[in-house]
Amino acid sequence: MSLERPELAFPVELIRPDLRDFTGYSSARTSAPTGTPARVWLNANESGVPNPADADGASRRYPEPQPPALVEAFADLWATTPDRVVVGRGSDEAIELLVRSLCRPGGDAVVVTSPTFGMYAVSARLHGVPVIDVPQVDDEPRWGVDTEAVARAAREGGARIVFLASPGNPTGSVVPLREIARLTEALADQAVVVVDEAYGEFAAQRSAVTLLEEHPTLVVLRTLSKAHALAGARVGIALAHPDLTAVLRRVQAPYPLPEPVTELALRALAPAALEATGEHVGAVLRLRDQVGRWLRDLPGVRTVYASEANFFLIRCDDPEALLHTLGAAGIVVRDMRHLPGLDDALRITIGTGPEMAELRSALDRDGDAAATTSAASTPAPPRPTPTEESPA
Ligand SMILES: *Cc1c(COP(=O)(O)O)cnc(C)c1O
Repeated sequence: MSLERPELAFPVELIRPDLRDFTGYSSARTSAPTGTPARVWLNANESGVPNPADADGASRRYPEPQPPALVEAFADLWATTPDRVVVGRGSDEAIELLVRSLCRPGGDAVVVTSPTFGMYAVSARLHGVPVIDVPQVDDEPRWGVDTEAVARAAREGGARIVFLASPGNPTGSVVPLREIARLTEALADQAVVVVDEAYGEFAAQRSAVTLLEEHPTLVVLRTLSKAHALAGARVGIALAHPDLTAVLRRVQAPYPLPEPVTELALRALAPAALEATGEHVGAVLRLRDQVGRWLRDLPGVRTVYASEANFFLIRCDDPEALLHTLGAAGIVVRDMRHLPGLDDALRITIGTGPEMAELRSALDRDGDAAATTSAASTPAPPRPTPTEESPA
């Protein structure tokens, strides 16, 4: 936060023309009267008494659209200001809000860099906007985003948003900050660059949040779903220029965060919980080193990509047999074979130490079996069809 420097402007031309003056829904909270302090709230058709299941009445009233204490806690966590924070139902909602706020339906495109998180394309498709894919370079043991090709494709395709996941899912690779800065700069008059840092806590690189003040058209997404262990709570955050967060809030549904979720998220951001989360992340990083080493030594595993996240992307000789062995042991990993160029790939989350030990003994057994018989001759477990799969 720099009080001395004037704020750089966000280019209003990037907002959907028909939404520039849109005020959104006026909720019971945002339209609260000012002047005399309100005491008797009869404006939202809420119940006057709590539900017996909600003894202290915490959920009796509609919540704040953007609970100030939570917004402030997130601003503190990422060393930014509350006006740069939008809280919502997971990063998924933030992605959706960005597409809806910036792309004309049926018009402006978004750029993605495959292989990547599926929700960018899903949100674009639901909004009727074209998806331009600039595939990443498979530079084993890493993946690289060709930011110059991205800039060119965004220009040619008239894109309004570039989605980069860093660390990427399923690649596990980061996009260097200086490349993010350069790309954002190069497209500043045309497109917003969204850096999805769902796995940021596991990466060595600094957060792109540190670039926000210099780059008004940069957006950073964070979540409580991964390192903070609250996937079920559905809390995601967009960090952006105050003019853009104002638009996103107006486009968002009136009461995105249920009261119990806000309370849970606030507890997760209290110092003791944050410290425990930090320790847990440290444990995952140590385990990642160990698991990476023994995965690389497995005979049937051809490639283990370097990971800056809490998972490994691997290529194997016989993914079907490996899935079968793991399935028989009750272990589920993510089949990535539906993605182009990944027809031999699986993604394995770093779980607990005991879970990783189970994984290892199942894989060692698979190696033994492959040495004696053809494991592929046993019937394979059914594969989920693409429609049954969540995009995560
Ligand atoms: C898991 C994941 C998310 C998290 O989404 P939420 O809606 O916050 O749970 C976002 N982006 C990527 C790349 C992910 O892998």
